[in-house]
Amino acid sequence: MQEARSRGLSAGLDPVAAGAEILDLARRLMPLPRSLTGDGVRETLRVVGELVPLAVTEVPTGTPIFDWTTPREWNVADAWIADSTGRRIVDRRDSNLHLLGYSHPVRTTLTGAELDKRLYSLPEFPDRIPYRTAYWADTWGFCVTEEQRRAIRPEDEYEVCVDARLEDGHLTYAEALLPGESEDEVLLSTYVCHPALANDNVSGIALLAVLGKHLVERRLRRSHRLLFSPGTLGPLAWLSRNLEHLDRIRAGLVVACVGDPGPLRYKRSRAGDTAVDRAAAYVLRGRPGSMVEDFVPWGGDERQFCSPGFDLPVGALTRTPHGLFPEYHSSADDLDLIDAESLGDSLAATLEILDVLDGDRTYVSRNPYGEPQLGRRGLYREVSSGAPREEESFQRALLWVLNLADGGHSLLDVAERADLPFAVVASAASALLDADLLEEQS
Ligand code: ZN
Repeated sequence: MQEARSRGLSAGLDPVAAGAEILDLARRLMPLPRSLTGDGVRETLRVVGELVPLAVTEVPTGTPIFDWTTPREWNVADAWIADSTGRRIVDRRDSNLHLLGYSHPVRTTLTGAELDKRLYSLPEFPDRIPYRTAYWADTWGFCVTEEQRRAIRPEDEYEVCVDARLEDGHLTYAEALLPGESEDEVLLSTYVCHPALANDNVSGIALLAVLGKHLVERRLRRSHRLLFSPGTLGPLAWLSRNLEHLDRIRAGLVVACVGDPGPLRYKRSRAGDTAVDRAAAYVLRGRPGSMVEDFVPWGGDERQFCSPGFDLPVGALTRTPHGLFPEYHSSADDLDLIDAESLGDSLAATLEILDVLDGDRTYVSRNPYGEPQLGRRGLYREVSSGAPREEESFQRALLWVLNLADGGHSLLDVAERADLPFAVVASAASALLDADLLEEQS
């Protein structure tokens, strides 16, 4: 128990096995037809709910959400373009990216020249299908490869079918509350609105689901809340329904684009110096190549949590973020772009950050006049040159924790100053606490 407690929330994590589990889940989630609303989101949440207990909220169409209004719900049965022989030349069954998101229903015949005005492609990447949406425009369209587009002859006739329902319904989001000893919360959020894109953001959904499964079995000091919601509107809908409890959020992370082999990046909260900012910077400092960047009001859902009315202590953890990888928002963001090793590493880093947040506290020494006699308490071992490095680190951590147990330094302060892993420092504090040498600062 002592061992498990001192090793914190990462205890029992095998990053290799966890990475493989995340990748398997990503594979399952990839084909589900997600959008801002609709059954693809519900099915995604149902799959996530197999790993972590979710409470699902359905927000009716027309509900005001701050400056926004919940849109109509969108569901698609079928969508295709056929040539004059009836052969389907573009078919949504081949890729959910083919249909412009939120296309309204249509069944018509038109010339290739007219059809071309409804098409989106990427001339610089002729074999990729772009990802496009038109949530707030009353229109329809198809996203195709440049090769498909070039094969359409302007004078020929084409039949188009968008068998979709755009009608009053709901916007769906889900959350898992993992209760801790206190009502203070750590919020972890990711978006579930992108269709068949692996890094952005099946990787984030799958990672948080496996993280939730891991945390369910752990003893938590703070409560942890996992939010799975469609981008922008989802967090805003959740915020609008939880206004009276937002002061419980002591730290938060938006997790997305965590499956590619690029280095980890942490984007600071708007305030920039909150507990999560310090914890993330500390954890990433131990991972060469990682980056810590200042807040900017664009990117992911952190910009909602960090808007001035909320100004929550929420940062963002990614590997290569939105817009900075060439496969971004196209069919090239597929399962080949993400790998188990990167996913497992992202999960391990997230857990280390949560470890620091959950385990950081401030102690006061009960024996501040000189060094206490550690040998008498079974805590002092002669560290010879052949001693294992962990043992040496642990001995140093004992002395650092004792020395900085003045009520003015937290365990993270100790870890930063001593340049020791947080888990070792927390473990030393735990041993000193058991030996009655420390008390927690109230
Ligand atoms: Zn995106």
